[in-house]
Amino acid sequence: MYTVIIGAAGAGKGTQAAAVQKKIGPHLASGDMFREAMAQGTPIGLEVRRFVNSGSLVPDVVAAAMVLERLSRDDARNGAVLDGFPRTVAQAEALDRELEKRGQKVDQALYLNVPEDELLRRLAGRWLCRVCQMPYHEVSNPPKVAGKCDKDGGDLFQRRDDTSDAIRTRLDLFFTETVPLLDYYRSSGVLDEIDGAQEIEKVSHDVVAAVRRRKGV
Ligand code: ADP
Ligand code: AMP
Repeated sequence: MYTVIIGAAGAGKGTQAAAVQKKIGPHLASGDMFREAMAQGTPIGLEVRRFVNSGSLVPDVVAAAMVLERLSRDDARNGAVLDGFPRTVAQAEALDRELEKRGQKVDQALYLNVPEDELLRRLAGRWLCRVCQMPYHEVSNPPKVAGKCDKDGGDLFQRRDDTSDAIRTRLDLFFTETVPLLDYYRSSGVLDEIDGAQEIEKVSHDVVAAVRRRKGV
């Protein structure tokens, strides 16, 4: 099963993908892939740095090439949770073409709907594990030991693009470029909308229920 998670920056995509990946397949987060490429200084990392740090979108062809290559590996042959990709209709079409070649399709698009004031509150307090990228929040989801990941003890860091200018750019781009994806997936009958403003466990409960319903179809 292929599930794509759609939501604005801070909606909880990474948090919820981590919770359902065991049921579906590997958690493939395009933003994590770009941050890793930047940290390693690869040619792609150097190419995307200015887009990622300013909160702009990486060009569609670059984002699609990277995610579709990852999707072709053995562990993602029968399913995956895609987080942060697709972000535009052109990317969704590229994903459909690739899956169609394999006789597969996007089975579910989960939209985490969260109001803007809550997104801003979440982004202001977000910390991520340097090792596994697990997100934490200073107030709503703190780690057990300050500054350390609960799962692997990795150091926590704050993203360079979780600053006010880059956040504004990312939220604006979400409305202009990504919201049209909701109609795209609604018209193919795979859209499930979740109230992402609830507390983490309640959102997870609704996400798991929606995944079960789709798997049963
Ligand atoms: P995204 O991947 O959509 O950008 P994250 O999963 O990184 O979002 O979550 C953004 C921040 O909000 C993190 O600090 C995370 O711990 C916190 N968070 C995620 N879901 C919730 C929730 N339902 N309620 C409160 N805080 C949340
Ligand atoms: P994220 O971790 O999903 O918030 O993504 C961080 C940044 O990576 C975004 O602000 C973009 O610059 C870039 N990015 C991630 N995914 C995509 C995508 N599918 N298309 C274009 N740019 C992306």
